[in-house]
Order: sequence, then structure tokens, then C-alpha cells
Amino acid sequence: MLRLGPTNPYNRNTVNNPYDPEPRFTWPHDKRCAVMLCLDVDGETTALSEDPKLVDRLTTFSQCQYGPEVGVPRLLGLLNHLGVAATFFIPSYVAEQHPRMTLAIANAGHEIGAHGHLHEKLAELTRKEEEAILIESLAILENLTGKRPMGHRAPWFEINPWTAELLAKHGLHYSASMMRDDVPFLHTNGLVEIPGQWMLEDWEQFAFNPDPQWGVIPEDCDKVYRLWWDEFIAMRDYGCSFTLTLHPWLSGRPSRVKLVERLLTDIQATGDAWLATGSEIADWFQENPSARREMTL
Ligand SMILES: [Zn+2]
Repeated sequence: MLRLGPTNPYNRNTVNNPYDPEPRFTWPHDKRCAVMLCLDVDGETTALSEDPKLVDRLTTFSQCQYGPEVGVPRLLGLLNHLGVAATFFIPSYVAEQHPRMTLAIANAGHEIGAHGHLHEKLAELTRKEEEAILIESLAILENLTGKRPMGHRAPWFEINPWTAELLAKHGLHYSASMMRDDVPFLHTNGLVEIPGQWMLEDWEQFAFNPDPQWGVIPEDCDKVYRLWWDEFIAMRDYGCSFTLTLHPWLSGRPSRVKLVERLLTDIQATGDAWLATGSEIADWFQENPSARREMTL
């Protein structure tokens, strides 16, 4: 039941009589689970959305610049090497500041989704303000790449009661912000939701800045590998959607790129995972609504 990847140093005994429920979802190509790799390129908006004056705190600000300038090119190289297509959620301010990066991501065959303009907290916005930002961010991303985004990830994952309605109204196919399930589900208006979870997020593992205080103590990569690999193996057994979110200013650091390489290589080696973009997952669900199995009591 538990198959460990070839480079995985972590081992344990298999269970004699494993709990083996019916998979939650039917995935294409007879795969047992989906893997959606999300890269949230928050860049300079990490600081600017907290306090515009942080632009003059050069060291803090330069940590944010590391994402678009170093992390993204390095991670793009790795994804190209592995043949994996990811979903990049980019605040449109960051896309405007780094047009070559944005185009390079699109030209490499990755999906680009909306992520606010300045990484605004939706909970602090009125419906009108949120809609204006959505319209602006979609237009900027479309102008830069020639392609209208199909997906949306709310900054800080937090959406408002009206967000799904706004996303559908402006032509988006899916949202990737909620945590109500571990397989895709539909909002009442038919918008697809591809849920995530904080455990599969690199901020909680790697973020650190002394002032303003971001994160706590950066974790070591072996621990993070085990955390994510264990969740992948269990999600594979239960037929879930493994939605991993990385920030290039964190996971673009050298040892963490090696961690991502190890994890993706081991996931690929199982042969059981459908590595897909958000749009591919949303399209599959829309075309196969019976793919989802409800939890029953
Ligand atoms: Zn973000």
C-alpha cells in the first residue's frame, strides 16, 4: 500500500490491514490522485501590501525581489527539466514589474492565474473594491501574456461570500482558495473550487524575517520532505488532490529547489499521480461531474 519513492530516505512498516476507502475522485488516465503545483509569485507585494514604506527597507525588500529575480528562473529551469507544468498565481503589480518573467512563465507552457493586484487582503475590501481589483488584474495579465487567466487564488487564501460570484461573472473557471475538502468541489454557482491546506504551503515551513516578523524558524528540508511526502502518499491512497503552494522567494533558495526536485521526482516515479494545472483539473471536473464522490456517513 505504501510505496516509497526511490530517493526517499524515510521508511516505516506497512500496516497489516490498511484502511482502504473508495477513492474520493476519479482522475484521468487511471491515475490515483492529482498533483497541482502552485507557485505564488508575490514578489515585492509581500512587503508592499503590508506597508508601502517597506520599499525603503532595502534588505527586507530585497528578500521579496529574490522571488521574481532568482527563484522563478531557477524553478522554471527545474520544471522544464522535469517536464512538469505548474500554475503560477501572480499579483498583477508583480507581473507589470517583471514583464519578461511573466512572459517566460507563459511561454514555458505554465498556467498564469490571478492573485490580486498588490496582494490585497480580500476581507478588507468591499465587493465593489474587490471587483475593481479583479477587473484590473485580469486585464493586466491578459495584456502581458495574450491569455485571459482562468483561475484565481486569493491572497492569504481568504475569500469573501461574494467572491465566487465575481469570479464566474468575469469568466474565471475556478478558484483555488478554500480548505473545505481535499478534492475539487463546486460552489453553488457552478464555479470549481480546487482546495488547498496550510500543511502544503512553504510559508509555514520556510518564511523568516525579523522585522516585520514573518515566519518563525526556517525548517530543515528533510523534515519538510517527510511532511509533504507523507501527505502525498496518503492523499494518493484516498484519491485526493495534492495542492502544493510554493513561494519563489522561499522555495527558490538552493537547498529548497533540491527538495522540490526530490519530491516531484519521487511523485513522478510512483506513476500514480496526475500532475496537472488548475485549468486542467477544473476542466476535467466540469466534463466529468460524477468524478467526485461525496463523503457519506
Ligand atoms: Zn500570495
